[in-house]
Amino acid sequence: METPLQEICACLGQPVAGNPTQYMMERAFAHHGLDWRYLTLEVSPEHLGDAVRGMRAMGFRGGNITKPHKVEVIQYLDGTTDAAGLMGAVNCLFREGEKLLGENTDGKGFVQSLREVADPAGKKIVILGAGGAARAIAVELALSNCGEITIVNRTASRGQELVDLLNGKLKVLARFTAWEGDYSVPEGIDVLINATSIGLFDPSAVVPVEPDTLRPGLVVADVVFSPPVTQFLAEAKDRGCTALDGLGMLVNQAVISFKVWTGIDPAASVMRDALEEYLGI
Ligand code: NDP
Repeated sequence: METPLQEICACLGQPVAGNPTQYMMERAFAHHGLDWRYLTLEVSPEHLGDAVRGMRAMGFRGGNITKPHKVEVIQYLDGTTDAAGLMGAVNCLFREGEKLLGENTDGKGFVQSLREVADPAGKKIVILGAGGAARAIAVELALSNCGEITIVNRTASRGQELVDLLNGKLKVLARFTAWEGDYSVPEGIDVLINATSIGLFDPSAVVPVEPDTLRPGLVVADVVFSPPVTQFLAEAKDRGCTALDGLGMLVNQAVISFKVWTGIDPAASVMRDALEEYLGI
């Protein structure tokens, strides 16, 4: 296969120093013999439009979008995939001819990770949180025919907005529960997901969930990838739950972006090794 020379992808965000996805991408480009580069570029909100126009002008093949630009970037694109449109957030840009389009690989990455331990179809799922990650995960779970979704969130308006999207356009049975004190996981729930930022870079942070309701057999997932085993996951493991860390989601979202840009299914193990090296695990 003829490989193009020096194709460039970029991650636009703020701040974006020390981006683990860059490590994974550069390692995978090298592994697959692609002379591609992945740049991590700090872009402030007022310059986002210019940055995207710059990507177009300089012929970038694509890129990732991180906080705080995942929603705002959409106005500068030629369109989005259906799933990203439903989420109203984009984390991956790609070219289709002259068009620059937006995809969201966060939720897809999570579902791919979940499938290693459980098929989401028909499952009763609780998602803690209603921010960007929760929204992406909830939409992809709905598209994977999960049984029902309960959104538990501190801020009611944000939680209800996601529930309305799920009940409406996604046509999945969804309900909202206000998060007050320790949340008790109801009997019959198959999968519990911490999609909040509680625990990120804080090994001692406690997710307010009643520990006695973490029953054996429950699949408990955390989107937080650093530390790789959060306090929440450690507790779930101790209580006999199947624990799923945030590293799998992080690797998978990168695997999917790589495939979108290059057409090549990358070696996920190479990317996982790069991530673990980056995180010093
Ligand atoms: P957002 O800021 O969009 O949402 C944060 C969510 O966490 C909100 O629901 C917020 O509730 C909730 N929250 C934060 N602090 C608390 C608290 N003390 N008590 C209760 N709820 C709280 O963030 P994102 O959704 O973009 O990111 C969430 C996490 O997901 C981050 O840790 C991020 O690193 C991780 N992530 C992981 C990925 C991976 O590949 N593993 C990919 C993408 C994100 P409220 O609405 O009430 O403010």
